Amino acid sequence: MTLSENSTVLVTGGAGYIGSHAVLALVDAGRTVVVLDDLSTGFRWAVPTGVPFVLGNVGDSALASRLIAEYRIGAIMHFAGSIIVPESVIDPLKYYLNNTANSRSLIAAAVTGGVKHFVFSSTAAVYGNPEHIPVNEDAVLKPINPYGESKLMTEHMLRDVAHAHDFNYCALRYFNVAGADPAGRSGQATVGATHLIKIAAEAACGKRDHVSIFGNDFPTPDGTGVRDYIHVSDLASAHLHALDALVSAPETNHTLNCGYGDGFSVMEVIDCVERVAGVKLDRRTGSRRAGDPATLVADNSRLLSHFSWRPKYAELDMIVADALRWERALETRDGIATN
Ligand code: UDP
Repeated sequence: MTLSENSTVLVTGGAGYIGSHAVLALVDAGRTVVVLDDLSTGFRWAVPTGVPFVLGNVGDSALASRLIAEYRIGAIMHFAGSIIVPESVIDPLKYYLNNTANSRSLIAAAVTGGVKHFVFSSTAAVYGNPEHIPVNEDAVLKPINPYGESKLMTEHMLRDVAHAHDFNYCALRYFNVAGADPAGRSGQATVGATHLIKIAAEAACGKRDHVSIFGNDFPTPDGTGVRDYIHVSDLASAHLHALDALVSAPETNHTLNCGYGDGFSVMEVIDCVERVAGVKLDRRTGSRRAGDPATLVADNSRLLSHFSWRPKYAELDMIVADALRWERALETRDGIATN
């Protein structure tokens, strides 16, 4: 089942890295979309031609309400937010504003405007340092940084709002998102990116002279942090499945891990980038970064059993190859990173 005719999906943060891939997936599936983004970290070029773009902040409730009415919004995919763990430790209030307060404002506009379905970008950071790996959705929720806390608070709001109103939601708990659209239409272009695969890809393209390793004394096989990397296009397709599930069973909510269930250490990721790019990278070991857990790997059995979603790019080599191709394309697309 799909959304009723004439009903549009509002994608907040649709000019950002993950949001723009979701927009591509929606458009590829023939859905009608409108993007709301304040371009604080996103790019106007990342929104495909023909998709209406509205410049603004999700915390502007008058704007959100106007868009919901004007575009007959039937569902919201809410990507807009802040995503950098160490920054959240230094500036927690930014995270409680962008990720919690602004989400509250958007959810309120959705309820008032009669939007019945909501897909939320949550995070594996809600688990903190999980006791069992791979971690499933029933694990204790104990974030160890304000980023995870700010997202968990929004999950709680959604749970309570779905209980009180004619509204259902799917919270997708992302593990480590990387790679780029295999067709080369979008990718990560954030200036000053902090994520490992992006940084290693930049180093492989000569844009950085080294890759820092944030701690080699974690309780992991090689001492470096272990993460579950998911290709951004597989993640985008999970959002389409989420939307269809919400529409076809309006009484049911979902909270689902989005990962492949495979863990790779920082060393293994850098090995992979070296192999795929055919270069050697200068690795410099430093101290741990604030707020970093040792290991985060998803138990994704719920995602696989609740939805017909199946990953298409579940190989670290494929993720890295797409990240590298995008990184090289950025060099030739003059000014792309700043426009
Ligand atoms: N990391 C690293 N060097 C970097 C960036 C990240 O060693 O330049 C490590 C980080 O400590 C973590 C893993 O790589 O163990 C993934 O970090 P990232 O920032 O990509 O994502 P996060 O897991 O923090 O969301």
